[in-house]
Formats: sequence, structure tokens, C-alpha cells
Amino acid sequence: MKRVLWNWLKAATPLSLRAQLDELVLRRAYEPTRDENPSPFSKPIVVFSADFELAWAWRYSEGGLPLALRKAEIERAQTPRLLKLLDEHQVPITWATVGLLADRERGQGSSAGPRPLLPAYQSRYWKFPGGDPFRALLEHVDLSGPEWYAPDLIEQILSAKVGHEIGSHSFSHHASSEEHCPHDFFEWELRTSAAALESFGVKPTSYVFPGNLPGHHALLEKHGYTCVRHFPDRPDVELAVPRRILPKLWGLNQSVCLEAYGYDVAYVGRKSRELVRKSLSHNRVASLWFHPSLDEADFEQSFRPMIELCGDLRDRGQIEILTMKQLAIRMDEVS
Ligand SMILES: [Zn+2]
Repeated sequence: MKRVLWNWLKAATPLSLRAQLDELVLRRAYEPTRDENPSPFSKPIVVFSADFELAWAWRYSEGGLPLALRKAEIERAQTPRLLKLLDEHQVPITWATVGLLADRERGQGSSAGPRPLLPAYQSRYWKFPGGDPFRALLEHVDLSGPEWYAPDLIEQILSAKVGHEIGSHSFSHHASSEEHCPHDFFEWELRTSAAALESFGVKPTSYVFPGNLPGHHALLEKHGYTCVRHFPDRPDVELAVPRRILPKLWGLNQSVCLEAYGYDVAYVGRKSRELVRKSLSHNRVASLWFHPSLDEADFEQSFRPMIELCGDLRDRGQIEILTMKQLAIRMDEVS
């Protein structure tokens, strides 16, 4: 009923006043959902994480290769802008990186040699036909191009002033869940990914599950991971205290994606900023995530104002901004 009334009111409001109306209603009526765990923090924490993947994430999606290449092109153009903005506001983030991006020899490096095959599966976002984990369906595509590998961008991330974290978003952007991904294949992915990133002096300890399909937690812990971002037990929880999944592995909630995906971009931006403002009363973690391939409207109306807001709140001492790795260390300290 409330929603019907709200939609009617919004439709009846002149365009020029809608932003103020959104703002007013969000301030008064929106209260982020929270977990019930007692908070060990003295102030709220904001964690930003980016699913850094170029074309690899989209190749088996409905949009297929054209979408994959378009996403990669946008991501290549956006990443330096993101880094500049993050440096300006001194906001460090976790770049959850597809391991293949770090392959300096473009498919001939750490990923070359015998690879385990992967059975066919279907997830919510893509359909894999089975076979070679990163060549299936792509035999006729030039996989050596800048849409698929990005040692140059990884160098840029590592040379940023603010000190970002490079985490992992798998090696070849396949599902990490036990249901879709055999134990041996996942272990190969972790080993190969670590080898590719090692040449940059990086040992990843944070993991973001491709397609939000979590699994193999024990293997992640065995390989030194300390923090995973996942859908929590209650997917509606926006502010939460990280959950201990295994003795050395923490689970970070997902509060909100900073991309609108067809919804009202301005509203999505305003709502996510209100989430951070409201977190000031709750001392929990707001976990904000995005793809570096976010479009111009998302960048200007959601991402940029959010970075400005968080940088400002941090400078005033009202919030902390941590990477996923730093959050896991903090949880070890306060638990
Ligand atoms: Zn992804």
C-alpha cells in the first residue's frame, strides 16, 4: 500500500521537485535493515569492493561476446578515472581481480599448460557449455587483446597513492560453489591465480565470488584467504557485523551495488548515500560494491558523490574506510 501511494505521489510530482521529494522521504522513512549481532566497533565502517574482470565475466552471459567486449572497453576507460577520484579523496578499495587479467604473457603465462576441464553448468547470470574453462565458445576469438588481459591496469592500481588492495575474483570467472565447481578445479584456480598475481608482488587474501555463488570456504582458508564477500544468510541485511565463517575466514555482507541496472540512477545513488548516513547510528559495516565498467550515469550520480561523501565523513572522524583485508585484521583484533 505504502509503495502504491509512494509511486502515485512520485508520478504526480513535477520532475524538478522529485529529487527533493526522494531526499525527504529517504531521510524520514528509510531505515537500513541490520543484523542483530552486537557491534564491536566504535564507529561505522565502509568497505568498497570492485569486481575487476574486463570481458571475462560476461562471455557466457545472454549478451555474449558483444556485451563482454563492450564492458571491457568501458572498464578500460573508467579504471584510470576511478583511480584518480579515489586518490583525490584518499579512499582505498579492494579490487577483486580475475586472475587472468594478471597474466603478463596473455594466456601463455601462468595459465598455460594442462588445465582441468570444467563440467557444463548454468548459473543465474551465465551458461557454461563445459570444457576448457576459459576457451570454450571462444576458439575463434583473439584472446590476446586488451579486452582480456590488463597487467597495465594492475600496475596503475598498485601505483595509486592511496594504497589499494588487490583481491581475487577467481582465476577464470567461473562459479566457485561446490554444486558447479569440482574441488580440484577450484584448487587449480586458486593456485594459478596466486601465481599470476605473485609476479606483481601480490598475495591475495580477499575473495569475491563470481556470480555471487559462494562455496569451497575451507579451500579458501587453506590458501590464506581471510575475507570473502558473499550474500549473507539474510539477503535483506544492509548493515552487518562480519560473520566468522571459519576460524581464519570472515564473511562480509553486501549492502548495496552502486550501479542502477535499469532502475532510477539518481534514486539508487541517493538511497545508497542515505544508507551510509544512517549507518552513523549503528556502527556496522556498509559494504558497497560495483563493477569498474559502470556507466557514465552511475559514475556521476552514484559513485562520485558516494566517494565524496565517504571521504568527507572519514575526514570528520565519523566513519572508517577499510579494505576487505584490513577489515579481516580488525575483526581478528576485536573478537
Ligand atoms: Zn564478476
